Amino acid sequence: MSGKDTVAGLAARLAARELSAVELVRDTLARIERLQPVLNAFVTVDAEGALAQARAADAARARGEVAPLAGIPIAHKDVLMTAGLGTTCSSRMLDGFVAPYDAHVVEGLKRAGTVLVGKTNMDEFAMGSSNETSYYGPVKNPWNTEYVPGGSSGGSAAAVAARLVPGATGTDTGGSIRQPASLSGICGLKPTYGISSRYGLIAFASSLDTPGSFAQTAEDCALLLNAMAGHDPRDATSLDRPQEDYTRLLRAKAGATPLEGLRIGLPAEYFGAGNDPEVAAAIEAALAEFRKLGARTVPVALPAVKLSVPVYYVIAPAEASSNLSRFDGVRYGHRAARYDDLTDMYRKSRAEGFGAEVKRRILVGTYVLSHGYYDAYYLKAQKVRRLIANDFARAWRECDVIMGPTAPSPAFRFGDKADDPVQMYLNDIFTIAANLTGAPAMSIPCGFTKSGLPIGLQVQGDYFAEARILEVAHRFQQATDWHARVPAMANS
Ligand code: GLN
Repeated sequence: MSGKDTVAGLAARLAARELSAVELVRDTLARIERLQPVLNAFVTVDAEGALAQARAADAARARGEVAPLAGIPIAHKDVLMTAGLGTTCSSRMLDGFVAPYDAHVVEGLKRAGTVLVGKTNMDEFAMGSSNETSYYGPVKNPWNTEYVPGGSSGGSAAAVAARLVPGATGTDTGGSIRQPASLSGICGLKPTYGISSRYGLIAFASSLDTPGSFAQTAEDCALLLNAMAGHDPRDATSLDRPQEDYTRLLRAKAGATPLEGLRIGLPAEYFGAGNDPEVAAAIEAALAEFRKLGARTVPVALPAVKLSVPVYYVIAPAEASSNLSRFDGVRYGHRAARYDDLTDMYRKSRAEGFGAEVKRRILVGTYVLSHGYYDAYYLKAQKVRRLIANDFARAWRECDVIMGPTAPSPAFRFGDKADDPVQMYLNDIFTIAANLTGAPAMSIPCGFTKSGLPIGLQVQGDYFAEARILEVAHRFQQATDWHARVPAMANS
Protein backbone atom coordinates (compact mmCIF):
# COMPACT_ATOMS: atom_id res chain seq x y z
CA MET A 1 0.00 0.00 0.00
CA SER A 2 2.75 2.44 -0.81
CA GLY A 3 1.70 5.93 -1.81
CA LYS A 4 2.82 7.68 -4.97
CA ASP A 5 5.17 9.88 -3.02
CA THR A 6 7.13 7.11 -1.30
CA VAL A 7 10.68 6.21 -2.34
CA ALA A 8 9.35 3.07 -4.04
CA GLY A 9 6.43 4.92 -5.64
CA LEU A 10 8.59 7.75 -6.94
CA ALA A 11 11.28 5.36 -8.21
CA ALA A 12 8.60 3.54 -10.22
CA ARG A 13 7.25 6.80 -11.65
CA LEU A 14 10.74 7.97 -12.56
CA ALA A 15 11.51 4.63 -14.21
CA ALA A 16 8.26 4.82 -16.19
CA ARG A 17 9.20 8.40 -17.25
CA GLU A 18 5.95 9.70 -15.79
CA LEU A 19 8.11 12.20 -14.02
CA SER A 20 11.63 13.51 -14.52
CA ALA A 21 14.11 13.92 -11.71
CA VAL A 22 14.27 17.65 -12.46
CA GLU A 23 10.48 17.98 -12.10
CA LEU A 24 10.54 16.02 -8.90
CA VAL A 25 13.38 18.02 -7.40
CA ARG A 26 11.74 21.34 -8.39
CA ASP A 27 8.59 20.21 -6.63
CA THR A 28 10.63 19.13 -3.59
CA LEU A 29 12.41 22.48 -3.42
CA ALA A 30 9.09 24.34 -3.67
CA ARG A 31 7.67 22.35 -0.74
CA ILE A 32 10.78 23.01 1.31
CA GLU A 33 10.57 26.70 0.52
CA ARG A 34 6.97 26.78 1.70
CA LEU A 35 7.37 24.79 4.93
CA GLN A 36 10.95 25.46 6.04
CA PRO A 37 9.92 28.80 7.65
CA VAL A 38 7.32 26.91 9.69
CA LEU A 39 9.26 23.74 10.55
CA ASN A 40 12.94 24.74 10.59
CA ALA A 41 13.76 21.18 9.51
CA PHE A 42 16.80 22.14 7.45
CA VAL A 43 20.11 23.76 8.34
CA THR A 44 21.20 23.91 4.69
CA VAL A 45 19.22 23.61 1.47
CA ASP A 46 21.31 23.10 -1.66
CA ALA A 47 18.84 24.01 -4.43
CA GLU A 48 21.44 24.53 -7.12
CA GLY A 49 23.35 21.36 -6.30
CA ALA A 50 20.13 19.34 -6.15
CA LEU A 51 19.00 20.56 -9.57
CA ALA A 52 22.41 19.73 -11.05
CA GLN A 53 22.22 16.21 -9.58
CA ALA A 54 18.67 15.84 -10.90
CA ARG A 55 19.74 16.85 -14.40
CA ALA A 56 22.58 14.33 -14.17
CA ALA A 57 20.12 11.64 -13.04
CA ASP A 58 17.82 12.36 -15.98
CA ALA A 59 20.76 12.30 -18.39
CA ALA A 60 22.00 9.00 -16.98
CA ARG A 61 18.54 7.48 -17.34
CA ALA A 62 18.36 8.70 -20.94
CA ARG A 63 21.66 6.89 -21.58
CA GLY A 64 20.12 3.73 -20.18
CA GLU A 65 21.97 3.77 -16.87
CA VAL A 66 19.68 2.85 -14.02
CA ALA A 67 20.78 3.28 -10.44
CA PRO A 68 18.10 1.91 -8.09
CA LEU A 69 17.23 5.26 -6.50
CA ALA A 70 18.12 7.52 -9.45
CA GLY A 71 16.51 10.94 -9.00
CA ILE A 72 15.05 10.32 -5.52
CA PRO A 73 15.39 13.47 -3.36
CA ILE A 74 16.90 12.85 0.03
CA ALA A 75 18.17 14.81 3.04
CA HIS A 76 21.02 13.97 5.37
CA LYS A 77 21.22 14.68 9.06
CA ASP A 78 23.77 17.43 9.59
CA VAL A 79 26.01 15.09 11.59
CA LEU A 80 27.03 13.29 8.37
CA MET A 81 29.85 14.67 6.27
CA THR A 82 28.74 15.79 2.80
CA ALA A 83 31.58 16.94 0.55
CA GLY A 84 31.32 20.65 -0.28
CA LEU A 85 28.29 21.23 1.95
CA GLY A 86 28.03 22.66 5.43
CA THR A 87 28.16 20.04 8.19
CA THR A 88 27.48 21.60 11.57
CA CYS A 89 26.01 19.05 14.03
CA SER A 90 23.71 22.02 14.74
CA SER A 91 26.46 23.43 16.92
CA ARG A 92 28.04 26.84 16.98
CA MET A 93 31.28 24.88 17.28
CA LEU A 94 30.97 23.79 13.63
CA ASP A 95 28.98 26.73 12.26
CA GLY A 96 30.36 27.45 8.80
CA PHE A 97 32.33 24.18 8.54
CA VAL A 98 32.25 22.67 5.06
CA ALA A 99 32.88 18.93 4.91
CA PRO A 100 35.88 17.91 2.78
CA TYR A 101 34.54 14.42 2.02
CA ASP A 102 31.40 12.26 2.09
CA ALA A 103 30.44 9.87 4.88
CA HIS A 104 30.30 6.24 3.77
CA VAL A 105 26.51 6.14 3.94
CA VAL A 106 26.33 9.41 1.99
CA GLU A 107 28.54 7.86 -0.69
CA GLY A 108 26.32 4.77 -0.80
CA LEU A 109 23.14 6.78 -1.27
CA LYS A 110 24.86 8.91 -3.90
CA ARG A 111 25.96 5.79 -5.78
CA ALA A 112 22.35 4.57 -5.66
CA GLY A 113 21.37 7.75 -7.50
CA THR A 114 19.70 9.82 -4.77
CA VAL A 115 19.67 13.59 -5.07
CA LEU A 116 20.85 15.38 -1.93
CA VAL A 117 18.64 18.43 -1.35
CA GLY A 118 19.90 19.51 2.04
CA LYS A 119 21.10 18.89 5.55
CA THR A 120 18.66 18.53 8.40
CA ASN A 121 18.53 20.23 11.76
CA MET A 122 19.22 18.18 14.88
CA ASP A 123 19.95 18.39 18.56
CA GLU A 124 23.46 19.75 19.06
CA PHE A 125 25.95 16.92 18.49
CA ALA A 126 22.95 14.54 18.53
CA MET A 127 22.40 15.07 22.25
CA GLY A 128 18.73 15.39 22.98
CA SER A 129 15.27 13.97 22.44
CA SER A 130 13.35 17.05 21.33
CA ASN A 131 15.52 19.08 18.95
CA GLU A 132 15.51 21.92 21.42
CA THR A 133 19.31 21.91 21.84
CA SER A 134 20.07 22.96 18.23
CA TYR A 135 22.13 26.13 17.79
CA TYR A 136 19.82 26.90 14.85
CA GLY A 137 16.64 26.73 16.90
CA PRO A 138 14.11 23.96 17.44
CA VAL A 139 12.40 21.92 14.72
CA LYS A 140 8.60 21.90 14.86
CA ASN A 141 6.43 18.80 14.72
CA PRO A 142 4.45 18.83 11.44
CA TRP A 143 1.39 17.38 13.19
CA ASN A 144 1.23 20.28 15.61
CA THR A 145 3.86 22.98 15.64
CA GLU A 146 3.50 23.57 19.37
CA TYR A 147 5.04 20.15 19.91
CA VAL A 148 8.55 18.77 19.52
CA PRO A 149 9.30 16.40 16.63
CA GLY A 150 11.53 14.26 18.84
CA GLY A 151 15.29 14.12 18.60
CA SER A 152 18.04 14.13 17.97
CA SER A 153 17.27 13.54 14.26
CA GLY A 154 14.20 15.78 14.47
CA GLY A 155 14.86 17.67 11.23
CA SER A 156 15.01 14.48 9.19
CA ALA A 157 11.88 13.15 10.88
CA ALA A 158 9.92 16.38 10.35
CA ALA A 159 11.08 16.64 6.72
CA VAL A 160 9.83 13.14 5.91
CA ALA A 161 6.64 13.51 7.98
CA ALA A 162 5.75 16.77 6.20
CA ARG A 163 6.45 15.07 2.86
CA LEU A 164 9.28 17.45 2.01
CA VAL A 165 11.46 14.49 1.05
CA PRO A 166 10.51 10.82 0.74
CA GLY A 167 13.53 9.63 2.71
CA ALA A 168 16.26 10.92 4.98
CA THR A 169 19.18 9.68 7.00
CA GLY A 170 19.51 9.84 10.74
CA THR A 171 21.82 8.53 13.40
CA ASP A 172 20.75 6.60 16.45
CA THR A 173 22.94 6.53 19.56
CA GLY A 174 20.20 6.03 22.12
CA GLY A 175 17.04 6.30 20.06
CA SER A 176 17.60 9.34 17.86
CA ILE A 177 16.06 7.69 14.80
CA ARG A 178 13.28 5.69 16.43
CA GLN A 179 12.04 8.26 18.95
CA PRO A 180 11.62 11.13 16.43
CA ALA A 181 10.09 8.65 13.95
CA SER A 182 7.57 7.75 16.64
CA LEU A 183 6.80 11.34 17.63
CA SER A 184 6.54 12.44 13.99
CA GLY A 185 4.47 9.54 12.66
CA ILE A 186 6.90 7.89 10.23
CA CYS A 187 9.19 4.85 10.03
CA GLY A 188 12.72 4.90 11.39
CA LEU A 189 15.18 2.03 11.23
CA LYS A 190 18.33 1.58 13.28
CA PRO A 191 20.25 -1.34 11.79
CA THR A 192 22.62 -3.65 13.64
CA TYR A 193 25.75 -1.80 14.82
CA GLY A 194 28.43 -2.28 12.16
CA ILE A 195 26.05 -2.77 9.23
CA SER A 196 26.30 0.88 8.19
CA SER A 197 29.70 2.48 8.51
CA ARG A 198 30.42 5.35 10.89
CA TYR A 199 33.05 6.79 8.56
CA GLY A 200 32.20 10.47 8.13
CA LEU A 201 29.66 10.45 10.95
CA ILE A 202 30.84 13.03 13.47
CA ALA A 203 31.25 10.94 16.59
CA PHE A 204 29.10 11.31 19.69
CA ALA A 205 29.45 7.90 21.38
CA SER A 206 31.39 5.60 19.09
CA SER A 207 30.25 2.27 20.54
CA LEU A 208 26.59 3.28 20.10
CA ASP A 209 26.37 5.62 17.06
CA THR A 210 24.51 3.95 14.19
CA PRO A 211 23.46 5.52 10.87
CA GLY A 212 19.99 4.56 9.65
CA SER A 213 17.00 5.79 7.72
CA PHE A 214 13.63 7.55 7.87
CA ALA A 215 10.82 7.00 5.38
CA GLN A 216 7.06 6.59 5.16
CA THR A 217 7.16 2.80 4.80
CA ALA A 218 9.16 -0.26 5.78
CA GLU A 219 9.69 -0.96 2.10
CA ASP A 220 11.36 2.43 1.68
CA CYS A 221 13.55 1.88 4.74
CA ALA A 222 14.68 -1.39 3.14
CA LEU A 223 15.52 0.37 -0.14
CA LEU A 224 17.52 3.02 1.71
CA LEU A 225 19.33 0.42 3.82
CA ASN A 226 20.32 -1.45 0.66
CA ALA A 227 22.20 1.68 -0.36
CA MET A 228 23.64 2.50 3.06
CA ALA A 229 24.83 -0.91 4.26
CA GLY A 230 28.13 -2.45 3.34
CA HIS A 231 31.62 -3.11 4.60
CA ASP A 232 33.92 -0.12 4.91
CA PRO A 233 37.56 -0.72 5.85
CA ARG A 234 37.79 2.91 7.02
CA ASP A 235 35.60 2.09 10.03
CA ALA A 236 37.25 -0.58 12.21
CA THR A 237 33.84 -1.63 13.57
CA SER A 238 32.24 -2.00 10.12
CA LEU A 239 31.24 -5.60 9.55
CA ASP A 240 32.55 -7.58 6.62
CA ARG A 241 29.63 -9.77 5.67
CA PRO A 242 27.90 -10.60 2.41
CA GLN A 243 25.68 -7.84 1.02
CA GLU A 244 21.98 -8.48 1.69
CA ASP A 245 18.91 -7.40 -0.21
CA TYR A 246 16.77 -6.01 2.61
CA THR A 247 13.65 -6.05 0.44
CA ARG A 248 13.88 -9.78 -0.19
CA LEU A 249 11.23 -10.83 2.32
CA LEU A 250 8.76 -8.15 1.23
CA ARG A 251 7.95 -9.54 -2.18
CA ALA A 252 6.31 -12.85 -1.29
CA LYS A 253 2.58 -12.84 -1.99
CA ALA A 254 0.85 -12.42 1.32
CA GLY A 255 -2.06 -14.65 2.29
CA ALA A 256 -4.60 -13.81 4.98
CA THR A 257 -2.15 -14.67 7.76
CA PRO A 258 1.27 -13.75 6.36
CA LEU A 259 2.86 -13.72 9.81
CA GLU A 260 1.77 -17.25 10.74
CA GLY A 261 4.27 -18.69 13.18
CA LEU A 262 5.81 -15.36 14.17
CA ARG A 263 6.44 -15.18 17.91
CA ILE A 264 6.20 -11.65 19.29
CA GLY A 265 7.89 -11.23 22.66
CA LEU A 266 6.19 -8.82 25.04
CA PRO A 267 8.43 -7.77 27.93
CA ALA A 268 6.44 -6.79 31.02
CA GLU A 269 9.06 -4.06 31.43
CA TYR A 270 7.70 -2.28 28.34
CA PHE A 271 4.08 -2.29 29.47
CA GLY A 272 4.28 -0.59 32.85
CA ALA A 273 2.24 2.15 34.44
CA GLY A 274 4.63 4.82 33.17
CA ASN A 275 3.19 4.67 29.67
CA ASP A 276 0.72 7.26 28.47
CA PRO A 277 -2.72 5.55 28.35
CA GLU A 278 -3.30 6.51 24.70
CA VAL A 279 0.09 5.06 23.77
CA ALA A 280 -0.70 1.87 25.67
CA ALA A 281 -4.07 1.54 23.90
CA ALA A 282 -2.57 2.06 20.43
CA ILE A 283 0.09 -0.59 21.11
CA GLU A 284 -2.58 -3.07 22.27
CA ALA A 285 -4.57 -2.41 19.09
CA ALA A 286 -1.47 -2.97 16.97
CA LEU A 287 -0.77 -6.25 18.75
CA ALA A 288 -4.35 -7.34 18.07
CA GLU A 289 -3.72 -6.61 14.38
CA PHE A 290 -0.53 -8.71 14.45
CA ARG A 291 -2.48 -11.59 15.97
CA LYS A 292 -4.97 -11.31 13.12
CA LEU A 293 -2.03 -11.56 10.72
CA GLY A 294 -1.11 -14.91 12.28
CA ALA A 295 1.46 -13.94 14.90
CA ARG A 296 1.23 -15.03 18.50
CA THR A 297 2.46 -13.10 21.50
CA VAL A 298 4.58 -14.59 24.26
CA PRO A 299 5.75 -13.03 27.51
CA VAL A 300 9.50 -12.47 27.82
CA ALA A 301 11.55 -11.02 30.64
CA LEU A 302 14.14 -8.26 30.27
CA PRO A 303 14.82 -7.47 33.94
CA ALA A 304 18.08 -5.56 33.38
CA VAL A 305 16.57 -3.26 30.75
CA LYS A 306 15.33 -0.91 33.46
CA LEU A 307 18.99 -0.04 34.00
CA SER A 308 19.56 1.00 30.42
CA VAL A 309 18.98 4.74 30.98
CA PRO A 310 21.52 5.06 33.84
CA VAL A 311 23.99 2.81 31.99
CA TYR A 312 23.63 4.88 28.82
CA TYR A 313 24.08 8.15 30.70
CA VAL A 314 27.44 6.91 31.95
CA ILE A 315 28.74 5.31 28.75
CA ALA A 316 27.50 7.85 26.19
CA PRO A 317 28.84 10.94 28.02
CA ALA A 318 32.14 9.10 28.71
CA GLU A 319 32.64 8.46 25.01
CA ALA A 320 31.37 11.94 24.13
CA SER A 321 33.84 13.64 26.47
CA SER A 322 36.65 11.85 24.67
CA ASN A 323 35.29 12.38 21.14
CA LEU A 324 34.50 16.05 21.66
CA SER A 325 37.98 16.86 22.98
CA ARG A 326 39.04 17.41 19.36
CA PHE A 327 36.94 20.56 19.19
CA ASP A 328 39.47 22.89 20.71
CA GLY A 329 39.55 25.78 18.26
CA VAL A 330 42.88 24.55 16.88
CA ARG A 331 42.33 21.14 15.32
CA TYR A 332 38.64 21.66 14.80
CA GLY A 333 35.91 24.10 15.52
CA HIS A 334 35.09 27.59 16.60
CA ARG A 335 37.93 29.74 17.97
CA ALA A 336 37.22 32.60 20.35
CA ALA A 337 38.11 36.01 18.95
CA ARG A 338 39.86 37.18 22.11
CA TYR A 339 41.99 35.26 24.61
CA ASP A 340 45.04 35.74 26.80
CA ASP A 341 47.03 32.57 26.26
CA LEU A 342 46.67 29.02 24.92
CA THR A 343 44.71 27.68 27.90
CA ASP A 344 42.44 30.69 27.81
CA MET A 345 41.88 30.15 24.10
CA TYR A 346 40.80 26.54 24.66
CA ARG A 347 38.59 27.58 27.53
CA LYS A 348 36.86 30.42 25.71
CA SER A 349 36.53 28.57 22.41
CA ARG A 350 34.84 25.61 24.05
CA ALA A 351 32.74 27.80 26.33
CA GLU A 352 31.42 29.73 23.32
CA GLY A 353 31.22 26.84 20.87
CA PHE A 354 29.24 24.29 22.90
CA GLY A 355 25.71 24.64 24.24
CA ALA A 356 24.52 23.71 27.73
CA GLU A 357 23.54 20.08 27.07
CA VAL A 358 26.84 19.28 25.36
CA LYS A 359 28.75 20.84 28.27
CA ARG A 360 26.69 18.82 30.74
CA ARG A 361 27.61 15.60 28.92
CA ILE A 362 31.30 16.51 28.75
CA LEU A 363 31.32 17.21 32.49
CA VAL A 364 29.54 13.95 33.33
CA GLY A 365 31.76 11.98 30.95
CA THR A 366 34.97 13.45 32.29
CA TYR A 367 33.83 12.72 35.82
CA VAL A 368 32.92 9.05 35.25
CA LEU A 369 36.21 8.42 33.46
CA SER A 370 38.35 10.13 36.06
CA HIS A 371 40.79 8.22 38.24
CA GLY A 372 38.97 7.00 41.31
CA TYR A 373 35.52 6.99 39.71
CA TYR A 374 36.27 4.93 36.62
CA ASP A 375 35.65 1.58 38.36
CA ALA A 376 32.59 2.76 40.22
CA TYR A 377 30.80 4.23 37.19
CA TYR A 378 32.26 3.46 33.79
CA LEU A 379 33.39 -0.11 34.47
CA LYS A 380 30.18 -0.88 36.37
CA ALA A 381 28.11 0.50 33.49
CA GLN A 382 29.98 -1.74 31.03
CA LYS A 383 29.17 -4.76 33.19
CA VAL A 384 25.48 -3.92 33.34
CA ARG A 385 25.58 -3.39 29.57
CA ARG A 386 26.57 -7.05 29.30
CA LEU A 387 23.69 -8.09 31.59
CA ILE A 388 21.25 -6.25 29.30
CA ALA A 389 22.64 -8.09 26.27
CA ASN A 390 22.31 -11.37 28.18
CA ASP A 391 18.60 -10.64 28.81
CA PHE A 392 18.00 -10.24 25.09
CA ALA A 393 20.02 -13.36 24.24
CA ARG A 394 17.70 -15.32 26.54
CA ALA A 395 14.58 -13.69 25.11
CA TRP A 396 15.54 -14.61 21.53
CA ARG A 397 15.19 -18.28 22.45
CA GLU A 398 11.49 -17.66 23.01
CA CYS A 399 10.53 -15.11 20.37
CA ASP A 400 11.45 -13.76 16.93
CA VAL A 401 10.76 -10.07 17.50
CA ILE A 402 10.06 -7.95 20.55
CA MET A 403 7.39 -5.25 20.48
CA GLY A 404 6.34 -2.38 22.65
CA PRO A 405 5.99 1.38 22.52
CA THR A 406 8.93 3.27 20.97
CA ALA A 407 8.51 6.05 23.52
CA PRO A 408 6.38 6.16 26.67
CA SER A 409 4.56 9.28 25.50
CA PRO A 410 3.54 11.00 22.30
CA ALA A 411 5.21 14.30 21.33
CA PHE A 412 5.42 16.82 24.18
CA ARG A 413 5.25 20.60 24.11
CA PHE A 414 8.29 22.79 23.68
CA GLY A 415 9.80 23.56 27.06
CA ASP A 416 7.95 20.76 28.86
CA LYS A 417 11.06 18.71 29.59
CA ALA A 418 13.78 21.16 28.57
CA ASP A 419 14.56 22.21 32.15
CA ASP A 420 14.58 18.69 33.53
CA PRO A 421 17.29 16.57 31.89
CA VAL A 422 16.20 13.39 33.68
CA GLN A 423 12.63 13.64 32.37
CA MET A 424 14.06 14.20 28.89
CA TYR A 425 16.43 11.22 29.23
CA LEU A 426 13.54 8.97 30.30
CA ASN A 427 11.81 9.45 26.94
CA ASP A 428 14.45 7.07 25.56
CA ILE A 429 13.75 4.34 28.09
CA PHE A 430 12.62 1.83 25.44
CA THR A 431 15.08 2.68 22.69
CA ILE A 432 18.44 2.74 24.48
CA ALA A 433 18.80 -1.01 25.06
CA ALA A 434 19.15 -1.72 21.33
CA ASN A 435 22.10 0.67 21.19
CA LEU A 436 23.72 -0.89 24.23
CA THR A 437 23.40 -4.36 22.64
CA GLY A 438 23.92 -3.23 19.02
CA ALA A 439 20.84 -5.11 17.77
CA PRO A 440 18.48 -3.70 15.11
CA ALA A 441 15.22 -1.94 15.93
CA MET A 442 12.59 0.04 14.12
CA SER A 443 9.72 2.37 14.91
CA ILE A 444 6.56 2.30 12.81
CA PRO A 445 3.40 4.43 13.11
CA CYS A 446 0.58 2.54 14.84
CA GLY A 447 -2.00 5.13 15.83
CA PHE A 448 -2.80 8.64 16.97
CA THR A 449 -3.88 10.34 20.15
CA LYS A 450 -7.30 12.00 20.29
CA SER A 451 -5.54 15.30 19.76
CA GLY A 452 -3.94 14.01 16.56
CA LEU A 453 -0.38 13.24 17.64
CA PRO A 454 1.25 10.11 16.20
CA ILE A 455 2.17 7.02 18.21
CA GLY A 456 4.97 4.62 17.32
CA LEU A 457 5.42 0.88 17.79
CA GLN A 458 8.95 -0.43 18.27
CA VAL A 459 9.91 -3.72 16.62
CA GLN A 460 13.21 -5.14 17.84
CA GLY A 461 15.08 -8.15 16.50
CA ASP A 462 18.25 -10.13 17.15
CA TYR A 463 21.51 -9.20 15.40
CA PHE A 464 21.15 -9.05 11.59
CA ALA A 465 17.36 -9.49 11.73
CA GLU A 466 16.76 -6.28 9.73
CA ALA A 467 15.11 -8.11 6.83
CA ARG A 468 12.76 -9.91 9.22
CA ILE A 469 11.88 -6.72 11.13
CA LEU A 470 11.17 -4.98 7.82
CA GLU A 471 8.97 -7.85 6.70
CA VAL A 472 6.96 -7.76 9.93
CA ALA A 473 6.52 -3.99 9.60
CA HIS A 474 5.62 -4.30 5.92
CA ARG A 475 2.86 -6.88 6.57
CA PHE A 476 1.40 -4.55 9.21
CA GLN A 477 1.49 -1.69 6.71
CA GLN A 478 -0.24 -3.80 4.08
CA ALA A 479 -3.09 -4.33 6.54
CA THR A 480 -3.29 -0.83 8.07
CA ASP A 481 -2.92 2.75 6.90
CA TRP A 482 -1.35 4.57 9.87
CA HIS A 483 1.82 5.12 7.84
CA ALA A 484 -0.17 6.76 5.04
CA ARG A 485 -1.70 9.50 7.21
CA VAL A 486 -0.38 12.90 6.27
CA PRO A 487 -0.21 16.03 8.46
CA ALA A 488 -2.58 18.76 7.22
CA MET A 489 0.24 21.18 6.45
CA ALA A 490 1.68 18.79 3.87
CA ASN A 491 -1.55 18.99 1.84
CA SER A 492 -2.42 22.63 2.10
N1 GLN B 1 18.25 11.22 23.35
C1 GLN B 1 19.46 10.48 23.55
C2 GLN B 1 20.55 11.40 24.00
O1 GLN B 1 20.29 12.56 24.21
C3 GLN B 1 19.84 9.76 22.30
C4 GLN B 1 20.50 10.61 21.31
C5 GLN B 1 20.89 9.87 20.07
O2 GLN B 1 20.45 8.76 19.82
N2 GLN B 1 21.77 10.49 19.31
O3 GLN B 1 21.68 11.01 24.17
